[in-house]
Amino acid sequence: MRLTNSIYLIGSGSKGMNLTNHYDCNVFLLDGGKETAIIDAGAGMEPEKILKNIEDIGFKLSDVNYLFLTHGHADHIGGAKTIKENTGAKIVASDLTYKILKHGDEKNSSIDVAKKAGMYPKNYSIGTCEVDIVVKDKDEIRVGNFVLQALSTPGHCEGHLSFYFIQEQNKFLFGGDLVFYEGKVATQFINDCNVFKLGQSIKKMKDLNLDVLLPGHETVVLKEAQECIEKSWSYFEKLQLPPSIL
Ligand SMILES: [Zn+2]
Repeated sequence: MRLTNSIYLIGSGSKGMNLTNHYDCNVFLLDGGKETAIIDAGAGMEPEKILKNIEDIGFKLSDVNYLFLTHGHADHIGGAKTIKENTGAKIVASDLTYKILKHGDEKNSSIDVAKKAGMYPKNYSIGTCEVDIVVKDKDEIRVGNFVLQALSTPGHCEGHLSFYFIQEQNKFLFGGDLVFYEGKVATQFINDCNVFKLGQSIKKMKDLNLDVLLPGHETVVLKEAQECIEKSWSYFEKLQLPPSIL
């Protein structure tokens, strides 16, 4: 599904457009001309649906150069192994996501508690694979015509990154689970969800002047996306929490 002249939605679950498997986060393809990237990998329950969407919009699997991962939760990284094996994409992620993927770490990804809470099937596991490029705050990766900047945005969980880029003066953010339409957030009763850090991460976005927000769930925001940040911050600055999508 084409969203802008360079961005496609190729995966989305029931907290979004229900394009692929019910558990999937929003999965985007960024067409940078000479190079192509995917942002987030879905849950890995039916990764073949995401792979098929890449081909259906006219790309070859081998066209995908990078797979950027925003954070180490199962709905965002579960499909990484299959996507990497089928495309040869280099995986870009934070140090914590690297460790989670390498070891299939159920504790640091909170899959252990998510299974206990009945959110994932008991037999679910993350396929393990190597992250090729570990990035930290402000690191930049070129994807053809675009330069994506990693922004450290913890709060929803540790090791959370958002990826920012500019196209013809328009400012884009692949936000993962940082912030959503109308300034909502994603807070959970898990060990590394930290609402203070989340507020600080939202505050850090205040001067970005975003046009387009491509979040990990729910709707995309194709213009005036800074309003979502402002709405979210309007709660935090009163020491309150914005509504959560979860
Ligand atoms: Zn998450």
